[in-house]
Amino acid sequence: MVTWQLVSRGISNERVLEAMNKVPRHEFVPESERERAYADQALPIGHEQTISQPFIVAFMTQAVDPQPGQRVLEVGTGSGYQAAVLAELAGEVYTIELIPDLAKQAGALLERLGYRNIHVRTGDGYLGWPKAAPFDSIVVTWGAEKVPEPLFEQLKPGGTMVIPLGQIPNQSLRLIKKDQNDQQSSQELLPVQFVPLRRAHEEKPK
Ligand code: SAH
Repeated sequence: MVTWQLVSRGISNERVLEAMNKVPRHEFVPESERERAYADQALPIGHEQTISQPFIVAFMTQAVDPQPGQRVLEVGTGSGYQAAVLAELAGEVYTIELIPDLAKQAGALLERLGYRNIHVRTGDGYLGWPKAAPFDSIVVTWGAEKVPEPLFEQLKPGGTMVIPLGQIPNQSLRLIKKDQNDQQSSQELLPVQFVPLRRAHEEKPK
């Protein structure tokens, strides 16, 4: 997977490649998808959600390049796979999932796999995790229309965020930077297809 899907497409960061080699992706997919766990595609994880394609996980990780000791926020835990890859590289990873069942499953799995530096909670990731802020980097794994203000606020000056913006088929992954004066810059990286953001109020019965 690493050579064919990642190195050949320009993932060159050795630490990221090592982390991708180490995290057992098959543990993060349902039994029925095990055979495809290392295939070059996203896979269903229930609740109409998906675990991202390996290349996208590696690409997003390389874009924020987490360093030892850093604090990283991920929003959209899903299976917990992206969080595990980040946790191989960063100091502490905070991850938020809107769907309680997915958060519970991911939390239990990450604990079983021995990740002690990942903190999972159920909630609306749009609002970030103010008590754990500020973060050196933020990884958003759902599509949004624009950069959520609370997330940008929770980024350290000098920090970076990777986020899919726009609607499929015009969605693209963007690298957002916050400079020392809290100013925002944005760079387009890659066309992508992420499931859209849902807000907490959409979960409540009407
Ligand atoms: N990073 C995941 C893939 C996530 S798919 C992995 O490695 O498996 C996007 C996830 O974001 C879904 O699980 C979805 O339920 C969740 N999500 C959608 N809107 C959200 C919100 N407002 N807050 C937190 N999570 C959200």
